[in-house]
Amino acid sequence: MARLHATKIEELKGNFMGMVLLPTDATYEDARKIWNAMIDKHPAIIVRAVTTSDVVRAVNFARDNGLLLAVRGGGHNIAGNAMCDDGIVIDLSQMKAASVDPGARRVTIEGGATLADLDAASQAHGLATPVGINSTTGIAGLTLGGGFGWLSRKYGMTIDNLESAEVVTAAGEVVRASATEHPDLFWALRGGSGNFGVVTRFEFRLHPVGPDVLSGLIVYPISGAKSVLQQYREFVAQAPDDLSVWTVLRQAPPLPFLPEEVHGKGVIVLALLYAGDPKQGEPLIEPLRKFGTPVGEHVGVQPYVAWQQAFDPLLTPGARNYWKSHNFSTLNDGLFDAVIDYIDKLPSPQCEIFFGALGGATTRPTPDSAAYAHRDAQFVMNVHGRWEDPAEDERCTGWARDFFHASAPFASGGVYVNFLTADEGDRVRTAYGPNYHRLAQVKRKYDPDNLFCMNQNIKPA
Ligand SMILES: Cc1cc2nc3c(=O)[nH]c(=O)nc-3n(C[C@H](O)[C@H](O)[C@H](O)COP(=O)(O)OP(=O)(O)OC[C@H]3O[C@@H](n4cnc5c(N)ncnc54)[C@H](O)[C@@H]3O)c2cc1C
Repeated sequence: MARLHATKIEELKGNFMGMVLLPTDATYEDARKIWNAMIDKHPAIIVRAVTTSDVVRAVNFARDNGLLLAVRGGGHNIAGNAMCDDGIVIDLSQMKAASVDPGARRVTIEGGATLADLDAASQAHGLATPVGINSTTGIAGLTLGGGFGWLSRKYGMTIDNLESAEVVTAAGEVVRASATEHPDLFWALRGGSGNFGVVTRFEFRLHPVGPDVLSGLIVYPISGAKSVLQQYREFVAQAPDDLSVWTVLRQAPPLPFLPEEVHGKGVIVLALLYAGDPKQGEPLIEPLRKFGTPVGEHVGVQPYVAWQQAFDPLLTPGARNYWKSHNFSTLNDGLFDAVIDYIDKLPSPQCEIFFGALGGATTRPTPDSAAYAHRDAQFVMNVHGRWEDPAEDERCTGWARDFFHASAPFASGGVYVNFLTADEGDRVRTAYGPNYHRLAQVKRKYDPDNLFCMNQNIKPA
């Protein structure tokens, strides 16, 4: 590396529009931090690209100098592949520009943008596309793994709304992938993670949403959790695609609408969004208030962008995080018993177990229509282990792993690639499911030497 520094880095800097950061630079320490504080990697170089040409230069530089290469979008991925030790990181966080064509209902957005950037640009025109539930997440990593959120039951996965992508390939070429241009690459990008190149620009279809939507939280005590979960299961089975209801089991945070005596106590939270006319949604959500006696409620008509940011304060960067996840096609009573048992022994006040409801439009495409294969998933469960003190690492990761095993007999077998942690290499094939072989063939065509290996990796066929 020392010889490389002496001979090449000045050359890289000379051609680069963005910043080239080395460990001696003042901003390097901040630049190597990502959402999950468990990740503590020290790249030799971090390049903050500002143009597609910068990305091309950095890809060529990494390849020609045999450097380990990582790509950072929003820096949220739990596995921490946005950073690497010793190699080079292409950091796209400065590339966030978005432009909306309201007539065509399309948004074009750069590869380092966050969900907040996308929502802000689209909602200025009363439009949106389905993305995740935490606005600081990167659009790139989310989309490349599939992407789902409050609008997915109505409008599908994020990838189901992707029209095209501008990609810098391992050869340093800039290509456009769409249904008609490099269709094999376009297929692979829609669920194949960061394996196929650096996406510098995404183009999404948009839909009329809000700008005000009926959304919010209904909170029940944990003592009624089994009955709430059973009623939730029946409710979701007949809910229209416009309505998304997720459940979260955790200790109650000190939210102003919850009585003080509830703070820190076990609760089950129903989080909901109705994507249509709020007036039509009101009667539909009424049964959710009758699953027992709620300890609090905060439901109303509010800006869609506000709801998209509602969970941000609970999901700030800098905490230690360890996740475990399963997909479910049905929820059964044995699973509910296991969940309640593990909520009873939460190792930290920030840990939680949630069920995101998919179904609806996410299940209609065939499993081979895009790389994302899990069209049978009605629910995605994620065990969020989250805590502050490194001394708690073993206890908290142990809790998450134990619950993961206890819930495995009830799961469908699939897993969402974007929820895999760094130690789940044995689940990568499961995450890509029946599409793995085809993905490996596309990988051989676009990245035969596996330059893009810092991801849930697909080996070239
Ligand atoms: C708090 C929180 C909430 C979440 N909620 C949801 C949710 O509701 N729905 C959902 O679907 N997911 C959700 N996720 C998961 C999220 O989709 C993944 O963590 C995703 O990988 C984050 O993307 P990123 O760009 O922020 O991450 P990064 O860590 O920057 O990137 C992840 C990987 O994607 C690749 N990559 C990143 N940018 C590019 C690029 N421009 N071109 C090519 N490859 C690239 C790289 O391989 C990188 O390692 C959530 C994550 C967190 C932390």
